[in-house]
Amino acid sequence: MFVVMAVGATDEEVNGVKSHILAEGLTPHDNRGAERVVIAVVGEVGPRKELLMSRLAALPGVETVTPISRPFKLTSREFHPEDTVIRVLDAVIGDGTLTIIAGPCSVESRDQLLETAEAVAAAGATVIRGGAFKPRTSPYTFQGLGVEGLRYLAEARERTGLPVITEVMEPAQVEVVADYADILQVGARNMQNYPLLTAVGRAGRPVMLKRGFASTVEEWLMAAEYIVSSGNPNVLLCERGIRTFETYTRNTLDLTAVPLLHHLTHLPVVVDPSHATGKRWLVKPMALAGVAAGAQGVMVEVHPRPDSALSDGDQSLTFDQFRTLAAALRTIHDEFGDLQGDPVPAAALGLTAGLSKH
Ligand code: PEP
Ligand code: MN
Repeated sequence: MFVVMAVGATDEEVNGVKSHILAEGLTPHDNRGAERVVIAVVGEVGPRKELLMSRLAALPGVETVTPISRPFKLTSREFHPEDTVIRVLDAVIGDGTLTIIAGPCSVESRDQLLETAEAVAAAGATVIRGGAFKPRTSPYTFQGLGVEGLRYLAEARERTGLPVITEVMEPAQVEVVADYADILQVGARNMQNYPLLTAVGRAGRPVMLKRGFASTVEEWLMAAEYIVSSGNPNVLLCERGIRTFETYTRNTLDLTAVPLLHHLTHLPVVVDPSHATGKRWLVKPMALAGVAAGAQGVMVEVHPRPDSALSDGDQSLTFDQFRTLAAALRTIHDEFGDLQGDPVPAAALGLTAGLSKH
């Protein structure tokens, strides 16, 4: 449930509500919006729900107490109506500007990464990507350069001034990856690795959470809820395609998820048409479609010589293709950047009526 404080409620009144929640063995999380404070009550409420709601509604400074039928709370739009904006170095994600994350699938060598980083930065990328610890389907394929790759990513940041993002696969790696990278990536295969989600929640770096390829939007938001409830509000969602019966493409980019997420959550959303399609020539149309659907950004794989890439060459763009794509993305973003679907009636979002004093 959410406790919506009245406009102008005092700190003392807010603290009074929070103490009451704590005394019930539950955890209060407050969102101090421009107008008012909303307090989410997190924990197992059980059968005392009705009684607790009326007790909270009677406290001074409380305007309404709203039960929320959905399981995600801190990541929900009701709790936090304003869009989350993530600031990392000079990059700003989720503020209405276009985020373009680009770089190779894997960091293969210092030269390969720096050459790619400089090319994509010159063409308008805002974040550099590159995998150092790689989650490969086969144990016999290239597994990444590990810490050596992280060092090259840090060098790419120095050269370009852009933040770098890289994947972390297990809790024990979080500290070292956070030492080198500006944004931590949790990959599709680890979306429901709860110890990892909790660990990145405590790492003090923004996290990009990719959608598991067999996960529903709700499971994805519950995974994000693990990170946010561990103390990290800076979570970016990445739609990277889900597995369907279609086999021409590697996965199926779920574009509907983009406007849907904008209604359900305040977290920024980017699309990854590289892993979704698995084919270089399909990346541009789907990247443009993602931005036209309201995504705040895209992530694409780029390689100096895609045909000799050690991973995901088939879906990696050449530098020329990336330049063309970046220019086209800006045009689409200028035209449709604020298109986030039509307003949805509250009932359609699963909201139930609040308990109000008025
Ligand atoms: C990646 O972005 O490097 C990656 C492995 O993607 P995914 O987790 O979406 O498969
Ligand atoms: Mn890849």
